[in-house]
Amino acid sequence: MRVLVVEDDALLGDAIQAGLKQSGYAVDWMKDGVSAEQALTTEPYAAVVLDLGLPRLSGLEVLRRLRKRSDSTPVLILTAMDAVESRIKGLDAGGDDYLVKPFDMGELAARLRALLRRASGNPEPLLQAAGVELDPAAHRVLCRGEPVELSAKEFAVLHILMLNAGKVLSRAKLEEQLYAWGDEVESNAVEVYIHHLRRKLFPELIETIRGVGYLMPRDKAT
Ligand code: CA
Repeated sequence: MRVLVVEDDALLGDAIQAGLKQSGYAVDWMKDGVSAEQALTTEPYAAVVLDLGLPRLSGLEVLRRLRKRSDSTPVLILTAMDAVESRIKGLDAGGDDYLVKPFDMGELAARLRALLRRASGNPEPLLQAAGVELDPAAHRVLCRGEPVELSAKEFAVLHILMLNAGKVLSRAKLEEQLYAWGDEVESNAVEVYIHHLRRKLFPELIETIRGVGYLMPRDKAT
């Protein structure tokens, strides 16, 4: 899943980007409000981690404009300690949750998972479909009760398909969520990941809808 991080502090931004990448997210990092707004109007993000104190355009303004466009992308606000006022403003401007600096990367990752869960309408922390169980927190997959080893990208593809179970996803949609700017995208990468997932899990897990994309059935016989 692809996440936008907006943070002007180089050390902190770098740490967040590295931490989220390690959790399997594709991460774009913007260091000012104007670049953040440009990214948000052109790229689809599953979630945004937004610092409020930013050069060129404040985080609060970025958030207000996002919501004004009726964009419901979940936003996790980062604020300075003791900045109760800015937390309130951030939430009222359309933020979904906040973290006070300094924070623990584990907590950031957990809050993001919670936001993604709510946004996708899957209240269960464990995703289940077609006899496959995926645990986003532990990064673990069980197929018919048996653990399955997946690469980070295979896991990411399966995660996106499961969050969207019952919906057809185009290859382009999957690619947009799998790669950040600057990542090298091989032209048939998605097909290869799908092929691996079918082989490692089971062949009929993911349906190919010709000319449209891929479908993970909402719930087949388990
Ligand atoms: Ca800042």
